[in-house]
Amino acid sequence: MPNVEEDCFINCPYCLESIEIRIDLTGGENQFLTYDCEVCCRPITLQVEINADGVIDIITERES
Ligand SMILES: [Zn+2]
Repeated sequence: MPNVEEDCFINCPYCLESIEIRIDLTGGENQFLTYDCEVCCRPITLQVEINADGVIDIITERES
C-alpha cells in the first residue's frame, strides 16, 4: 500500500504548542494549507515543500 500521507509535527506560531498534522503527499511538492491549532484554535498558514528525497519542510506562519 503506497504511503500517500505523512504525519508531521509543527509548532503553533501563536501558542508554541507542538501539534500533529497530516500532509497529503499526493498534493504536490509545494502546498499551501491552513490548519486550525488544536490547542488555541487559531488558523495557521502552512507552506509545505516536499523535496526529491521525500523530505518534508514545513514553514508555519500566522495568518495575516
Ligand atoms: Zn496554538
